[in-house]
Amino acid sequence: MAAAVDLRRRAPAKRVSADKWDELEPGDCVIVTRRDGSGVSGYAHACPGCGETSALNIEPRDGHPVWSVAGGDPAHPEGVTLSPSILHDPVKGGCGWHGYLRNGVFEPC
Ligand SMILES: [Zn+2]
Repeated sequence: MAAAVDLRRRAPAKRVSADKWDELEPGDCVIVTRRDGSGVSGYAHACPGCGETSALNIEPRDGHPVWSVAGGDPAHPEGVTLSPSILHDPVKGGCGWHGYLRNGVFEPC
């Protein structure tokens, strides 16, 4: 997904279905369910800074970082608060966007 890089972008955590995978806008979140389908294990989100897709896990999965749900219902990212902050790590090729998901909005630090 080609989006202009903007490290100060605020973006709503909009829930979108997986069939929109090729059309994700910065901040869009696709629900990732547990392997047994019983609930939400995290999101694939389009980076608020650049639109590149990466994982926000809220349950342990394949040894990747895990965020805590500090508020809201994980099934509705539009109202979720996660802890700690989110960094699209430039060391790993990310754009460097750093911020928080608070009350369903990705906000830069
Ligand atoms: Zn990024």
